[in-house]
Amino acid sequence: MTDPTRSIQRRFPGIPTLEGAGVRLKRSFSNPEVPLFDPFLLLDRFGSNNPADYLAGFPWHPHRGIETVTYMLDGRVAHGDTLGNEGVIGPGDVQWMNSGSGIIHQEMPQRTEGMLAGLQLWVNLPGREKMSTPAYRGLSAPEFPSVTLDNGARVLAVAGKYGNVEGPVRGIPVDPTYLDVQVPAGETFEHPTPSGYTAFAHAIAGAGTFGGNDSGVVPSGETVLFSAGDRIAARAGAGGFRFLLVTGRPLHEPVAWYGPIVMNTRAELQTAMQELDRGEFIHHRRPIVEE
Ligand code: FE
Repeated sequence: MTDPTRSIQRRFPGIPTLEGAGVRLKRSFSNPEVPLFDPFLLLDRFGSNNPADYLAGFPWHPHRGIETVTYMLDGRVAHGDTLGNEGVIGPGDVQWMNSGSGIIHQEMPQRTEGMLAGLQLWVNLPGREKMSTPAYRGLSAPEFPSVTLDNGARVLAVAGKYGNVEGPVRGIPVDPTYLDVQVPAGETFEHPTPSGYTAFAHAIAGAGTFGGNDSGVVPSGETVLFSAGDRIAARAGAGGFRFLLVTGRPLHEPVAWYGPIVMNTRAELQTAMQELDRGEFIHHRRPIVEE
C-alpha cells in the first residue's frame, strides 16, 4: 500500500520581483507555473522594514477573471475600488476579492513603524464565472475562528474546515481551504486534503519539514507544491513553524493571461484590452446615488 501522505513535489524559494509602481516582493509562483498550481495562479509575499520598498504601492489597476486574496501579516494597506469599497486593512485581516467581469482598484501601503508584510494569492475563476458580478469580502482578524490542539499547534481558518472549525469565506467556486497553521518546536501537524485537489504550503515563519523528514527543511519564505495524496503532515523545527496551507479543486481549463487579467482564450483577453482602451471595462459598478 502506498503512503497517502503527500510529499513535496517542487520547492519555490520566491524570486525577488518589482511589482505595482515599485514594490519589492518575492514571487513564489506565477504564469510560468501554469498549470502546476491549478486553480491557483500566483503567490506573492511582501515584507520589508524599509518604506522605500513598498510605499509606491499598487495604484489604480484592473482585474478580470480571478479572485485576489490578500492576507496582512504586519502593517497597513489602504484600498479603494470601483464597487465603492474603501478602507484600511491591518495585521490578520483578509481581503477576498472576486474581480468577476472587472474591477479597478488600488492597494496602497501606509507608512508604519516596523514591518509591512503580507501575502497575495490569485485564485482562478471557472470560465462560467469569469464575467460574473464582482464581489468584495473584507474580513478582520477577529472574524477567523481558530483552534488550539493538545500539542499546542494553532490552526486559524480563513476558508475551508479544520475539524469543526470553518473559515468564514464560503461559496468560492474552487472549494478552497486556506489555513494559517502554527506548530510549536518539534511538534507535528496532520490534515486531510481531498485527493485530486491541488495542495501547497507557504512557510510564513520558522522552519519545518513536510511528508517525512527526508524532504529537507522548508525555511521561512519558501513555498512547496505537494504531490498527490490525501493528507499532509508537517513537523516543526527547533524554532517552531508557521505556514499557510492551501488546497483547491483544479479547473482543468485553458488559461489566457495578460497582467492582472486571466481568461480562457486570447480573444477574451483582446476584448478586455479593447474595453480598457474605450473606458468600457467596468460592467458592474455600484450605482452612484445623487443626494
Ligand atoms: Fe490588484
